[in-house]
Amino acid sequence: MFCNLRRAPRSFIKVLEVSHRTIMTTELQTKFDKIFGRIDALKPVFIERLGQAIEIPAVSGDETMRPHVVKKAHFLVEQLAKIGFSDIQLKHLGVQPPPVQNPDLQLPPVVLSRFGNDPAKKTVLVYGHYDVQPAALEDGWSSEPFKMVVDEKQQLMRGRGTTDDTGPLTGWLNIVQAHKEAGIELPVNLITCFEGMEESGSLGLDGLIAREAQGYFKGVDAVCISDNYWLGTKKPVLTYGLRGVNYYETTIEGPAADLHSGIFGGVVAEPLVDLVQVLSSLVDSKGKILIDGVNEMVAPVTDKERKLYENIDFSLDDLNASTGSKTALYEKKEDILMHRWRYPSLSIHGLEGAFSSAGAKTVIPAKVHGKFSIRTVPDMDSAKLTKLVKEHCDRVFAKLSSPNTCSTELVHDGDYWISDPHNASFTAAAKATKVVYGVEPDFTREGGSIPITLTFQDELKCNVLLLPMGRGDDGAHSINEKLDISNFIGGMKVMSAYLHYYAESAEN
Ligand SMILES: [Zn+2]
Repeated sequence: MFCNLRRAPRSFIKVLEVSHRTIMTTELQTKFDKIFGRIDALKPVFIERLGQAIEIPAVSGDETMRPHVVKKAHFLVEQLAKIGFSDIQLKHLGVQPPPVQNPDLQLPPVVLSRFGNDPAKKTVLVYGHYDVQPAALEDGWSSEPFKMVVDEKQQLMRGRGTTDDTGPLTGWLNIVQAHKEAGIELPVNLITCFEGMEESGSLGLDGLIAREAQGYFKGVDAVCISDNYWLGTKKPVLTYGLRGVNYYETTIEGPAADLHSGIFGGVVAEPLVDLVQVLSSLVDSKGKILIDGVNEMVAPVTDKERKLYENIDFSLDDLNASTGSKTALYEKKEDILMHRWRYPSLSIHGLEGAFSSAGAKTVIPAKVHGKFSIRTVPDMDSAKLTKLVKEHCDRVFAKLSSPNTCSTELVHDGDYWISDPHNASFTAAAKATKVVYGVEPDFTREGGSIPITLTFQDELKCNVLLLPMGRGDDGAHSINEKLDISNFIGGMKVMSAYLHYYAESAEN
């Protein structure tokens, strides 16, 4: 057979290839029709499942709510078993490290499970988190946050966790059910990794991923995280980059105790006066970082990258709407997005130790801390950045010839993440988006950080795709969090089609 093909004229092979592709496409289309039809038909079941999950107030940041977080893990185990996932395991992560009220507080378990274990298929690990942000009716919700409301008129589901991240998480369960009921084989082996501590720093997850890299996660070809959002409300996106963050604290210390300015003002060197000068030397009012050597570390914009910005559905008005003001530093879409996503920024967050209440207290604070952070991007090096920041602060302080002392420390750092938006995983997800929504997705980055993305990439040595389900106005972490039903249904169709296109792709 192969010999025949090799001897066949070139044009014949071409025809064969084309017709082969056409057949595949038609075959896929038939599969999609069946799966998508099933997803539509199962809509009430999927909404019901989400509603049940939302009723469990799995707030990871509140120690007293921990039993609910654990209960939600068990709910997921039950659902996974019902749908036919196998090897379901609750991975315990031990006690929560300090600071905690209860020193014996156990971290919520990570829920691992598989669907399929065929060595001939690719293996995709899907990540989601089942814990949620706190929420209470008194915060201004229009309905009980832990009782999901289906708003038929607006065609959306409201409740804490609908979009962040319980909705997308249950999406993975639902699409397996849809495949089974449609009689379509899942094209990949699926592994779920659902954590219950994401809203509280993903404590314990790094270690678990490292431990399971050659265990439960052995053979994973790609990771898909569905825990971010479209940039706006209309156009689907795929996300290929996140900024990192280095957080610093500068402490200036002088007198042994706070002093009265009527007695000591003008005769002692004031720490807060020094600190204000150090802080003001870091960044100018146009957002330009003034620390020598920082901007030089930033990777230049390539033409290919610039092209990705051209079609993105975003405008100055969107920015103004989300800040509720006209305080933008840039007018052009490209400038705004690049400064949000691919350039570093320095923000001054606050002062500790300084007088900050109402009134007119005449104190000279004895010891003050200035807090600031730098959002980092390729190719900035965290250790090098910290060295530059410390040297800068020391240099500026030295120029003040102050008898006070000044020190700058790194509080925490998390690296940036960047992927190739043209790799097999992104290409598959782009095709899937086109099939479901009829448009090419925008390729976006985010200004914030999801540190676990990088952990998966480094530990499992594979590509990570960020595949959002919800919209930019879903109100994750805010009041009246919602997920549009069209995004829920469309998102599950994209997840399904993504797995099929990825399974077909030649490389990993
Ligand atoms: Zn989330």
